[in-house]
Amino acid sequence: MGRVLAIANQKGGVGKTTTTVNLAASLVLMKKKVMLVDLDPQGNATMGSGIEKNDLDHTVYDVLAQTRSLQDVILRTPQAGYDILPANGDLTAAEVELLKVENRLKEILAPVKAHYDYILIDCPPSLNMLTVNALAAADGVLIPMQCEYYALEGLSALSQTIHAISESINPDLVIEGILRTMFDARNKLTEDVSAQLHEYFADKVYRTVIPRNVRLAEAPSFGLPIIVYDKASRGALAYIALAGEILRKSGNEQTTTV
Ligand code: ATP
Ligand code: MG
Repeated sequence: MGRVLAIANQKGGVGKTTTTVNLAASLVLMKKKVMLVDLDPQGNATMGSGIEKNDLDHTVYDVLAQTRSLQDVILRTPQAGYDILPANGDLTAAEVELLKVENRLKEILAPVKAHYDYILIDCPPSLNMLTVNALAAADGVLIPMQCEYYALEGLSALSQTIHAISESINPDLVIEGILRTMFDARNKLTEDVSAQLHEYFADKVYRTVIPRNVRLAEAPSFGLPIIVYDKASRGALAYIALAGEILRKSGNEQTTTV
């Protein structure tokens, strides 16, 4: 059965999309079958996967609104080797569509979970109904964060939301891991925040850190994951290491054979 991971942090620009796209591609490199769900109306994961968001006939919005089936909307990324449920600005309307509906995405993904090893959901930068649907559908939450002063404060709001959801609609939900992104070891604050993270979250903090690397910022404009754009870059090596750490942690070294 595939593992569903929501990549979430209500803070903007912390590396959610970069992590979703590049972790998906790195897991494919390790022979895993992966689906990416773009759950952000910005459509950044869609564009970063090489799909023009404004040329789409159907998007994840149509699936959430129940006017299209998953199979009508799902696409194969041209270069990265994973399947994607793409998004664009149409998804803003889902906020109304999903008013008080928490389980829609979970129901949509249930029939295809067995076809994938991993389903990664790129969440928008807010704790809205889209994010709630992602957390309701997920087995685990991967939280990318930058090691800066207010980062921990932001994490407490997210932790509370995760807790509330695990107390109500999704009792199995866990924090899968906390990923330090745009990491700069020379910055003194990085050390302090890392120490606090280890104190609060202990072994939930990934050993792998993602360095600040300009190649990671360039890759999306070519619609490519970093391992295709520049396989030897520090960013590529970091995301490959993260995929390895996640696979080791889950003890899941086998692939799904379909
Ligand atoms: P949003 O909240 O808007 O969805 P996000 O959390 O998805 O943002 P990203 O879009 O992944 O964040 O990253 C924000 C910006 O930082 C992007 O321009 C991205 O290319 C860049 N970026 C992300 N990670 C790195 C990194 N490790 N090194 C350098 N640049 C990075
Ligand atoms: Mg994003």
